[in-house]
Amino acid sequence: MAKIDLNSSIKRIAVLTSGGDSPGMNPAIRSVVRASIYFGRRVFGIKHGYYGLIEDEVEEMKSNDVSDIINRGGTILKTSRCKRFFDKEGRAKAYKTLKKHHIDALVVIGGNGSFRGAELLGKEFDIPIIGIPGTIDNDLSGTDYTIGYDTALNNVVNAIDKIRDTASSHDRLFFVEVMGRDAGFIALRSGIASGAEAVLVPEIHTEYGSLKKYLKEEYQNKKSSSIVLVAEGDDSGGAMMISNAIKHDFPEFNIRVTILGHIQRGGAPSDFDRVMASEMGIAAVKGLLSGEKNVMVGVKNRKTVYVPLCKAEKHTKKLKPSLLETLSILNV
Ligand code: ADP
Repeated sequence: MAKIDLNSSIKRIAVLTSGGDSPGMNPAIRSVVRASIYFGRRVFGIKHGYYGLIEDEVEEMKSNDVSDIINRGGTILKTSRCKRFFDKEGRAKAYKTLKKHHIDALVVIGGNGSFRGAELLGKEFDIPIIGIPGTIDNDLSGTDYTIGYDTALNNVVNAIDKIRDTASSHDRLFFVEVMGRDAGFIALRSGIASGAEAVLVPEIHTEYGSLKKYLKEEYQNKKSSSIVLVAEGDDSGGAMMISNAIKHDFPEFNIRVTILGHIQRGGAPSDFDRVMASEMGIAAVKGLLSGEKNVMVGVKNRKTVYVPLCKAEKHTKKLKPSLLETLSILNV
């Protein structure tokens, strides 16, 4: 990163949250607001993501507007999915709002979709934009972690610990579905942390015959209870479908299904997410004041990096082979 230029022409910075909420968005907002003020800038919050940008839901924020939010999940700025932003006309209206408030730069806290929109807005209207990765899925390339991932993992592990009590007391086989439409990061890591007997992820084809064989050996012959973690986008069709197939083939199995759903992304952000969000918020403001634009703040090997928005995308990040190996070694 180049040196921070306190005389930078960026005097007014706006911040918004967009797409799916994630725990840690609030600490990120707090950090952007306070870092902007620290560096002598004025800062504006935009409500409801791109919708609020189009509809002019803009308000200046002061330091005490972000008091008492570091411990709160969700986002005080609210978020939305906004169809109109897919069209150039919608983005032109959004830009008009920015101009109306003399805003020189924008910080977008969101996931892959939000960054696609940010990329277009930045290019079409030549406005500096910096993204902060806020998504529980941790599926963005260019960063080792996204804000909310750690909290979601803790939520999943806490839930599975509870489910395991019942699984073990009743000798049951539980299929637990976790979030991850396109990626198995949550399933794999929480599977290791909770000692799941098998983990089904979208990145790896689920071979039904092998799963059947494995469960027969593991659940029927060796263990009295088992937990199978299923990412919602796994090609088995999800926990409900795969459990029905297993139930059909092994009517004697004592099977239950739990779909964790939205409890995974609610609640107070973990200390890790709070600190990461705080650091990323400052990095976003510092980046803008040192001439960075149309990039995402990321963390690579524990160092802050700026990644072009076009490289901060879904579908290219791979599951860590070392984690896959850990899971298979520990499930002998
Ligand atoms: P996330 O940011 O969590 O991945 P979404 O994919 O729902 O969430 O995207 C959030 C919003 O970003 C969308 O509702 C839309 O307003 C905007 N957006 C997403 N993809 C694009 C795109 N290709 N072009 C323009 N705007 C987009």
